[in-house]
Amino acid sequence: MNEEQRRNWILSRQRRKSVDITVLAQDLMAGNRQALGQGITLVESTQPEDRRKALALLSHTKQAQGMSIRIGITGVPGVGKSTFIEAFGMYLLSVGKRLAVLAVDPSSTKNKGSILGDKTRMNELSMQDQVFIRPSPSGGTLGGLARSTNESILLCEAAGYDVILVETVGVGQSETMVRQSVDFFLLLMLSGAGDELQGIKRGIMELADLLVVTKADGENCRAANRAASEYKNAMHLFPANENGWIPVTATCSALEKTGLNNIWRQIESFVNQTKINGWFEKNRKDQQLFWFDRMVQNDLLERLKNESHFSELMHEAEQRIRDGHDNAFVLAQKIVHEIFKTYIKSNGKN
Ligand code: GDP
Repeated sequence: MNEEQRRNWILSRQRRKSVDITVLAQDLMAGNRQALGQGITLVESTQPEDRRKALALLSHTKQAQGMSIRIGITGVPGVGKSTFIEAFGMYLLSVGKRLAVLAVDPSSTKNKGSILGDKTRMNELSMQDQVFIRPSPSGGTLGGLARSTNESILLCEAAGYDVILVETVGVGQSETMVRQSVDFFLLLMLSGAGDELQGIKRGIMELADLLVVTKADGENCRAANRAASEYKNAMHLFPANENGWIPVTATCSALEKTGLNNIWRQIESFVNQTKINGWFEKNRKDQQLFWFDRMVQNDLLERLKNESHFSELMHEAEQRIRDGHDNAFVLAQKIVHEIFKTYIKSNGKN
């Protein structure tokens, strides 16, 4: 291939790539679910080429992002999350919403059992045209999961989904992460089991805008109501929220489809109230700043770890900490100093 042919080949390759993304962006914004699925696969990838495409796709669809209500849903396994999402999702469709369901499950990176991974969950919902369901991606770090979840939310919005449910497992770090990605946080609880038993930490309860006691049907109805009022009292003791919203408790039965209307009403009134007092927009901007900061740290560290000199230094330092030779704070400072000396000053970019 001569120089000119090579240039043409590169140009046509570049054109093909940009056309692909432009077309994908158009299809996605036209509400094509397959295009959305492809887009999310791109944002979940860590391959540099996919990453470039993902960023291009996010920027091509920017004008259509941001228009949804983002709701986090959590609760321990068995509380009834998938049954609830199925029933609540069908309710949302009945009031004219388009719904996307995303899952965040860091544990699926360790063992293969991912939430939403099981196709038998949410049977009815997954067959609806106005619904898009995406299981948790497997593999990767919590940081990677956070990035792909945030970017997937934006793509779902660009595809016209106006309610986005982000489901998480309810046992740890992922809740704090999801809280920073959604407008409203819904915690599902069981009646008749102590908080300890439910594995729900007080910290997670403090994140909730709405606490719903599930399975309020049959013989369990009274216990559910009692638990809801106990939780209500407990939540009064928490510090007041900056957004002016007083967290609410409710009950529901996904089996009998009761309480769903009330839950949606609470969410709508939260959105109205926080849009009027300015918190809704402010919170989204604060969240972007939070992720901006996190992602810079995350990406820097990831890239550095791929540098053999740096990874050797890290290993050495970790070993010294384990052996009790050095203080962690001192070593951290040394490493940062070394990074500046090696990678930044020597490039003249300091
Ligand atoms: P997840 O692990 O949190 O997703 O929980 P599931 O949705 O899989 O539900 C766990 C169990 O609780 C299943 O056996 C469901 O049939 C049952 N369940 C879920 N919702 C209800 C409900 O509203 N009422 C009753 N009685 N059982 C429910």
